[in-house]
Amino acid sequence: MSAARVDRLVELLAECDLDSLLVTGLVNVRYLTGFTGTNGACVVTPQERLFLTDFRYTEQAEAQVEGFDLLHGGRDVASELAIHLSGRAGFEDATLSVRRFGRVSDKLAEGVELVPAGDLVEGLREVKDPCELVRIVAAQELATGALERTLERGLVGRTEREVALDLEHEMRTAGAEDPSFPSIVAAGAHGALPHAVPRPIDIPNGVLVVIDWGARLDGYCSDCTRTIATGPLDGTATDVYELVREAQARALAAVKAGVECKAVDAVAREVIEDAGLGERFGHGLGHGVGLEVHESPRLAKTGEGNLTAGMVVSVEPGVYLPGAVGVRIEDLVAVTDGGADVFTSYPKTLVTID
Ligand code: ZN
Ligand code: ZN
Repeated sequence: MSAARVDRLVELLAECDLDSLLVTGLVNVRYLTGFTGTNGACVVTPQERLFLTDFRYTEQAEAQVEGFDLLHGGRDVASELAIHLSGRAGFEDATLSVRRFGRVSDKLAEGVELVPAGDLVEGLREVKDPCELVRIVAAQELATGALERTLERGLVGRTEREVALDLEHEMRTAGAEDPSFPSIVAAGAHGALPHAVPRPIDIPNGVLVVIDWGARLDGYCSDCTRTIATGPLDGTATDVYELVREAQARALAAVKAGVECKAVDAVAREVIEDAGLGERFGHGLGHGVGLEVHESPRLAKTGEGNLTAGMVVSVEPGVYLPGAVGVRIEDLVAVTDGGADVFTSYPKTLVTID
């Protein structure tokens, strides 16, 4: 599988007029080589595929890395690989620090030109291959099961923090390596903070609770949000919930290969704007999910490019009324030629758990 990824990268190098690429972003290194350690880098040219790590990871690299010649060296893997760069040599300007860039520059052979290559590997990672899709689905199923078990123990009278820890414990117990990001459990007005941090405060009856959580399994992330009632709600909370649910359903129906990323965002945004709450949906509609929980593409007003079959994106409109209530509903979907495969099975009709 990784050989096909590297072949596609070599095609991209030719399109970008590059003779070689130094890959230093660890997630990109993992994507291309299979290496999961914390220190490694690789060089890809049309003729050569070199991977270098330090002594701590020699044995691990031998077990994990496929299709690359293995080199061993000191900890400064980028500068040790610099001598293998040739011609117009791309580097990953998003991850190579200024300090490491300096060390790489010092080691270059005569005539080698170092040029920022942007996000070439990130671009490849946007479209998932079948074995990646299987892993993301598995991560999402694990996370959904963890939520169901957590909710069996109820919400009212437990603190946001207890529920978040319970959820994380359930995910770990079910085999997750980690939560894919710090879980959000935010009740009532606290839910109006899109990135709320769970508090040691009891969840009351009769509010909405925003729960945004994900599992990392076999390197791949899931990401989902549900907003759950803890008892009968006031009219505003119910109206906001139904509005977000409508916006989310319309956006999901708009997902399809070939559609502009920003057009999908606009579908959800229009529903919320028509209700006079456009200002209260202050973030983008969604993002790519894979080895990282936030990756390209972005589904936002300023999102570039079109959806392609095999992309995995979140669709997560929200409405946040400061001091009152917040609602977000998020599904993870794979883009297909005919529409979207939704990975999330937990219901979106308003669920009440007390
Ligand atoms: Zn999320
Ligand atoms: Zn998300």
